[in-house]
Amino acid sequence: MASRPESTAGDLEENAVEELRRQLAGEVVVPQDSEYDAARSVWNGYIDKRPRVVARCRGVADILAALRFARAHSLLTAIRGGGHNVAGFGTCDGGIVIDLGPMKGVRVDPEARTARAQPGLTWGEFDRETQAFGLATTGGLVTTTGIAGFTLGGGIGWLTRKHGFTIDNLISADVVTADGRLLTASPASHPDLFWALRGGGGNFGIVTSFEFQLHPVGPVVLGGAVFHPAEKAREVLRFYNRWVATLPDEMTSMAAFITAPPLPFIPQPLHGTPMVAIAVCYAGPMEDGQRVAQPLVTFGPPQVAHIGPVPYTILQGMFDASAPRGIHAYWKTHYVQDLSDAAIDALVAETAKMGSLSPFATLHIHHLEGAVSRVKPEATAFRHRTPRYAMNVVGLWTAGEQADPHIAWVRRTFDAVQPFATGAPYLNFLGDEGADRVRAAYGAETYDRLAKIKQRYDPTNFFRVNQNIRPTAPTPA
Ligand SMILES: Cc1cc2nc3c(=O)[nH]c(=O)nc-3n(C[C@H](O)[C@H](O)[C@H](O)COP(=O)(O)OP(=O)(O)OC[C@H]3O[C@@H](n4cnc5c(N)ncnc54)[C@H](O)[C@@H]3O)c2cc1C
Repeated sequence: MASRPESTAGDLEENAVEELRRQLAGEVVVPQDSEYDAARSVWNGYIDKRPRVVARCRGVADILAALRFARAHSLLTAIRGGGHNVAGFGTCDGGIVIDLGPMKGVRVDPEARTARAQPGLTWGEFDRETQAFGLATTGGLVTTTGIAGFTLGGGIGWLTRKHGFTIDNLISADVVTADGRLLTASPASHPDLFWALRGGGGNFGIVTSFEFQLHPVGPVVLGGAVFHPAEKAREVLRFYNRWVATLPDEMTSMAAFITAPPLPFIPQPLHGTPMVAIAVCYAGPMEDGQRVAQPLVTFGPPQVAHIGPVPYTILQGMFDASAPRGIHAYWKTHYVQDLSDAAIDALVAETAKMGSLSPFATLHIHHLEGAVSRVKPEATAFRHRTPRYAMNVVGLWTAGEQADPHIAWVRRTFDAVQPFATGAPYLNFLGDEGADRVRAAYGAETYDRLAKIKQRYDPTNFFRVNQNIRPTAPTPA
């Protein structure tokens, strides 16, 4: 992706950078530094942006200093949690990255079943601490994803149907606003901000601490996946659509078109072949899970059935190898209400071309409903509570390959499913696709309410390297 300066700030004087270095406990990285390329990169290797400064913050004092510096030098400002955002909003061209990666503190209260967590944590790091007490909250399906951006955009994971989106488990958050105040957002304190944070992305300030509700989970759960050959995809998805309608909240699942990876539990002759997989997690008693999973294990039967007791932290890492840092990515997302036969036909026709493009390319269909659908659409800034599925067409390829064929496949597949989709994308899977898609992701009514709150907390749109909500009456910076 071409680099293009976005900031109007002139070159930063060396002594200004030196002053920032003196103020920060964390590192300050500039283009002359040997670690610059590592510091500017994000998970998506297709994003190639060159900020002027990366401020690696170790605490709130560092964040405040970096914010003052950004304002003093009129720098475009990107906030980075785990850097997994596919659109690359964890970095920017010509500005400053406020990198929260070093902030990895977490405190679990096993009695109250809550956790306080800093924004540099990944889900793997967070789960490790909470699972020491047999507790968890809804977290990502890949352990290296940051808890911060993930939470602010909603949060779909293995506990979604039992415990809701991650935002449904957010109790409070500490936030540094654009004017440098530190506020606590909760039902009792700045409730408008608390409402907006739960689905409004990184638009309202820098979250320096999240307080989550935890739930007893595992530490061993029933989980894993079944794999069918891609030729059986039609029957498998028809079965899947029927099966999910029968499920208790404890069972969360996703269907995926994949190229079989070289994993030890997949027989060697199947490696590299196109398959359709259904992966599950049962967050409840093991025997109940086995009973609920039984139709899945017998249907077909699958070529490989690998479902059984598994530590929750291992299940969380099941897809890690399929999404290595630095891989090139382009995604498009939809909510889909139902997998009708026509929708399945469209999916099968397009995914048949996927394997010849890239062994990493995939298409995910996350089953929702359950707890997420029982939260009122207006209760949080996450409006889309009732679609049955969130779908993500995932183009992934390696550095050095031409991007165009991969992007073209993602767009074609997205377009083929469009007639069966609700018209809205899931914010956390959304790329850099323009204002109309952003508005659709929030929903028009929610967007308008968010814009008023944005006006209150960030009237100059200082935080704009994100799925941006424009203040109702923006004031010049
Ligand atoms: C491999 C992979 C797997 C994924 N799996 C899932 C999944 O299972 N379920 C799901 O729902 N999503 C998933 N996602 C999407 C993920 O939720 C988003 O990419 C999310 O933005 C990642 O958060 P992050 O902190 O890592 O990202 P970043 O790129 O660091 O940030 C993303 C956005 O949040 C803002 N932000 C980050 N931290 C803060 C903060 N502390 N305060 C204010 N704003 C902040 C940033 O400015 C940016 O706009 C996945 C993504 C990848 C790449």
